[in-house]
Amino acid sequence: MPLTPMRQILDEAAKAGYGVGAYNVNNMEQIQAIMAAAKETQSPVIIQASHGALKYSNMVYLKHLMQAAVEENPEIPVAMHLDHGPDIKTVKEAIALGFSSVMIDGSIDYAVKDASGAHPPRSFEDNARVTKEVVDYAHARGVTVEGELGTLGGIEDDTQATAVHLTDPDQCQEFVQKTGVDALAIAIGTSHGAYKFKEEPKLAMDLVTEIHKRVPNVRLVMHGSSSVPQELVDEVNKYGGKLEKTMGVPVKAIQEAVKRGISKINVDTDGRLVVTAAIRKVFQEKPKEFDPRKYLGPSRDALAKLIAERMKAFGTAGHAKDYRAMSLDDMKAFYAGKK
Ligand SMILES: [Zn+2]
Repeated sequence: MPLTPMRQILDEAAKAGYGVGAYNVNNMEQIQAIMAAAKETQSPVIIQASHGALKYSNMVYLKHLMQAAVEENPEIPVAMHLDHGPDIKTVKEAIALGFSSVMIDGSIDYAVKDASGAHPPRSFEDNARVTKEVVDYAHARGVTVEGELGTLGGIEDDTQATAVHLTDPDQCQEFVQKTGVDALAIAIGTSHGAYKFKEEPKLAMDLVTEIHKRVPNVRLVMHGSSSVPQELVDEVNKYGGKLEKTMGVPVKAIQEAVKRGISKINVDTDGRLVVTAAIRKVFQEKPKEFDPRKYLGPSRDALAKLIAERMKAFGTAGHAKDYRAMSLDDMKAFYAGKK
């Protein structure tokens, strides 16, 4: 049972006017939770792994976990996506593993770090050049490519940038023409990680509308879009955690962004919080427990519940059977025909 090209999942979403969440995975319980939520709500789904996740899972484990996810749920379109690919080498590794989509984050230079561990931004020309190289390699194999223009704040798996730059709509058309990307991550004021904002964020919603108008055939992506609900932070702290007060992107703001042209929504932090809360709860309430299944099991259930809620909120629920999934070979022919 093959993976579905992410491009198809996002094109179908854009056509029907809903958003698709991309959920990060590092281990078996997370992938099981994501698939349980997709099955329960009948949602197409994007599973994504960062460079850090590839290292953590020793790649081959991740490969077989994603194959299991597809084999177990043949009726659900599933894309496997590389999140924040730092260079073409990592992109090639992900494609060799069978990923149906990759991100090349050419917006910052992952090879260079300043004293605080942050990466400097790349010039527009350099970004376009590395992205184009990845597009040529990936499209020849039917694999979807997401690029990034502008830089986000915050930190998530080594993605920290030295400065935040909102995406300039004037550059979008040229970037898309130069690179041929399928999807574009845009910076509209969201931020990676748990500590996003001190108060409710003001996102540049008009930018979404404007960029969607300029590049209507490219699927727009919102990174750093966890909502960091107060009750989740409270739950972690109630069972011995020490998280500071923080705010994320409200689900309402994401729904507004989807209406204006966002198709893919990256959610990682909320999943981390819900898993941590569930495990802490067992440890606090049952200090004699030492069977990992007794705390990983509840954390898996809690994550599935959270993701099912997001799938409903983003409008993805009920769309799993809307279309017949394409293969990477179909996409290869599609890209060859565009040239
Ligand atoms: Zn990101």
